[in-house]
Amino acid sequence: MTLPQTSREMLAIAGGTPVRPTLLPYGRQSIEQEDIDTVVAVLRSDWITTGPKIQEFEEAFASEVQARYAISFSSGTAALHAAAAVSGLENGDEAIVAPLTFCASANCVLYAGARPVFADVCPDSLNLDPDAAARRCTSRTRAIIAVDYAGHPADIGALRPLAESHGALLIEDACHALGATFQKKRVGGLAHMTVFSFHPVKHITTGEGGMVTTNDAELAAKLRVFRSHGIASDARMRQASGAHFYDMVSLGYNYRLTDISCALGLSQLRRLGTNVQRRREVAEIYRRAFAAMPAVTAPIVRDDVEPAWHLYPIRLKLDRLNGSRDDVFAALRAENIGVNVHYLPVHLHSYYRQNLGTGPGDMPVAEQAYRELISLPMFHGITDRDIADVVQAVGKVVAYYAR
Ligand SMILES: *Cc1c(COP(=O)(O)O)cnc(C)c1O
Repeated sequence: MTLPQTSREMLAIAGGTPVRPTLLPYGRQSIEQEDIDTVVAVLRSDWITTGPKIQEFEEAFASEVQARYAISFSSGTAALHAAAAVSGLENGDEAIVAPLTFCASANCVLYAGARPVFADVCPDSLNLDPDAAARRCTSRTRAIIAVDYAGHPADIGALRPLAESHGALLIEDACHALGATFQKKRVGGLAHMTVFSFHPVKHITTGEGGMVTTNDAELAAKLRVFRSHGIASDARMRQASGAHFYDMVSLGYNYRLTDISCALGLSQLRRLGTNVQRRREVAEIYRRAFAAMPAVTAPIVRDDVEPAWHLYPIRLKLDRLNGSRDDVFAALRAENIGVNVHYLPVHLHSYYRQNLGTGPGDMPVAEQAYRELISLPMFHGITDRDIADVVQAVGKVVAYYAR
């Protein structure tokens, strides 16, 4: 201990009293009575899967994000797989991928038999850097997969023309960005295909679930066939027409979302606006609080976007601290603040190192960010009291480690 004890509170990790008596999670769903009622009604109906709720949810979702088509999937990962497959990626092809993301954003390229090629992120938004992506494009590039990190839309204005100039498609992994806008337009109809997830920590949930939105009728048709074994008609259509015949026209999967899940999604979708609004309020409270803490950098927001705030990742100014990110992380957990780290860059996972030959030093901006990032609790059901606890705990811990 080099500084006088008086300026520092005893941390919970060292035996002091934690800021909260119980753990505040970093994210969680909210389920209301109307959600339960809608799901129960489907359970009592004739169709619990491949029934009418699927189309209802897809149409409501498409209209919500201002896209022409929405195709539902059993998870965000299945939706990414479908998007990668229908973009035409095959053996020998390449897709440019942002490294600071959940591994599924890159895995979908491998599912399609193609090669993920990582390109570094911008130092401010931590989204795929269009210049870095341009440098990694080759004649084999068929797709660019951009991630809206934390809910801040990627630079679609630069990335879409870049993809098109290479005859490739832009796939926007918007699993963090449902409700976000880019240049006043909703994320969902901006890239060639946009992918969403309905995992419980996301903006709305169906338990597990995902969606691809597109304005392209041909891609929409391919996505529907891919979702159901590569078969060109579904069971309900066959029942309605009285026909038994079906034809498998391509290799597909069973990636369907159930009517039970779609009913939950429909009900949740009605609260998307208020969920995102609350997340923006939370981000604003955090931003003001952290402006007063010199060792903490709040996430930036570029001028032309409104983020949807799936995550609230702060960055530590390590040159102002005597501890590492992991020290601060462990201390915050001990204070019962459910912090997290998003993400270990994908190219540093063992599988990628061993099979694609990637490694440390490949993506310096993403790797530096990784050493500094801590995600604070961010969900629409968080209370003002919870937020105050987070701010107090971060203040307490960074004051303790301050140089
Ligand atoms: C959540 C998430 C996914 C995967 O979604 P699942 O529904 O969990 O399969 C993919 N990419 C990103 C960036 C995500 O956050």
